[in-house]
Amino acid sequence: MTKLEQYKEQYANQNIQFIVIGFDGTIVESDQTFLKLNKGDYIYDVHPFFVSYVSVLESSEETITYNCVHLDYLQKQYITDVKMIKKDNHILLLIYDFTDHYLSYQKLAQARNESIINSELVVLKNIELEERERFKNAFIRNFSHELRNPLTSIISITSVIEGTDLTGEQKQMVHFLKESNANLKLLLDDIMSISLIASGKLQLRDKVFSLFGLLQLIEFTYKTKAAQKSIDFVLNYDKKVPEFVEGDRLRLFQVLTNLCDNAFKYSKEGAVTLNVKLNQKRANKVNLRFSVSDTGIGIPQEKVDAIFESFTQLDDFGKKQGSGLGLSIVKGLLELMDAKIRVESIYGKGSEFYFDVTLKFPLDLASRPISKYTFKSSGSSKKIDERKYKLLMVEDDEQIQTVLFKALMDTNLFYIDLVNDGAMVFEQVANNTYDIILMDVDLPNVPGDHLTQLIRDFPFKNIKNIPIIGITANAFEENINDYLNKGMNAVVTKPFELTELVETVLKLLKK
Ligand code: ADP
Repeated sequence: MTKLEQYKEQYANQNIQFIVIGFDGTIVESDQTFLKLNKGDYIYDVHPFFVSYVSVLESSEETITYNCVHLDYLQKQYITDVKMIKKDNHILLLIYDFTDHYLSYQKLAQARNESIINSELVVLKNIELEERERFKNAFIRNFSHELRNPLTSIISITSVIEGTDLTGEQKQMVHFLKESNANLKLLLDDIMSISLIASGKLQLRDKVFSLFGLLQLIEFTYKTKAAQKSIDFVLNYDKKVPEFVEGDRLRLFQVLTNLCDNAFKYSKEGAVTLNVKLNQKRANKVNLRFSVSDTGIGIPQEKVDAIFESFTQLDDFGKKQGSGLGLSIVKGLLELMDAKIRVESIYGKGSEFYFDVTLKFPLDLASRPISKYTFKSSGSSKKIDERKYKLLMVEDDEQIQTVLFKALMDTNLFYIDLVNDGAMVFEQVANNTYDIILMDVDLPNVPGDHLTQLIRDFPFKNIKNIPIIGITANAFEENINDYLNKGMNAVVTKPFELTELVETVLKLLKK
């Protein structure tokens, strides 16, 4: 035998068994490649599958092929393709042992199925997470909305009480009440910020502002706080930091005050330092590093990541002083500014929170804002004390009616008419001349924004142009923009300070 013939014998046909059976199913011959069969036995006794040899007798086809046939034989499992070929007086069975091939194919198919199932699971998981997120945001939105009305009443009633004759003790209690109200309002605003950030609805408003002015305001605030706490507050800023920059002043202020508040909250002594340094300046952009460091309790290394999650507070000191929202707001706001909050802290010694942020700065001096102290009102403005203004208040909530009424009457500037039903508004404006309307948006029958639209469509100028201030508990920007688009001149959100509302009224009257 040549080498090649030897190899052929060794490797070829290793996995094909040839069997000849009679038309009655008896085994006539077998090459025994892997099934060891006895001549004279019936093939269907070897494995019930072989009963199907009958089909080839009945078929007009000469050959029938069966794929992926599982044959258990002597405790071994073969996965085979079986070919049955009809000859003159016998049948030739060819059994191809493709066990390895089928198994690996099966594994592949299984892996593919698993990966399909897994990716479907991921999709489901995401849907669930999104659903939960949506629910959370909707919940927060409604919840804060529900809280705004009663809180407005509480804040307003408190300032009314403050203006009455009080004993020393009562004054003290009103003072505490005001402080708690202010905290509650801050908390509500924090919850709102978180919900806005989480739902991607918070938009930064970039404007040119004085960075020095902002830093001085922060310095003033925390120097006062420092004096009460026997902790120093130090502000350092690099001479190269530009005085005017362009960015969202309010949000930068929110970030810095959240960090400074924490620094004070979690320190008993020492100093809180706010550093502002110029990293680089290029074209009309500056990159600044803001850092707030303290000599407080510090944060254990393993907990550093957790503190940026909403509602996370570490144990012990200061725990009861916050809501666990401050740092996640900081993180979220900075992400909107393409910046990242970082922290270095030594447990027991103190912490430093810092971030690098790019702000624009105006090359053109003309775009600097006019300082509010040098602003002169235009000559055409009405003298407020020349006459009283006529104001229409459209409000259905009795408590809010009372406090608004009191606050506005106290200024001695207004005659006030009150309606608590939207349907009465037209009769009222048609029969009177109003200088301004205060309009609750959330009126029961006809909503205030709808009424505003109708007034704006009025044919008479003296009616269609009356300034309208909306009052609403819907503090989301999209709602406010909607009300403005419908023709309101300003929107005041609940809870508001009475002074804020009166200022808005006066500002519109002066125009
Ligand atoms: P809180 O309202 O509790 O202050 P934050 O989100 O602002 O919520 O902070 C989360 C937690 O991080 C705090 O409860 C506190 O445990 C820890 N933390 C924040 N700032 C400091 C700091 N300057 N020093 C030590 N721990 C801090």
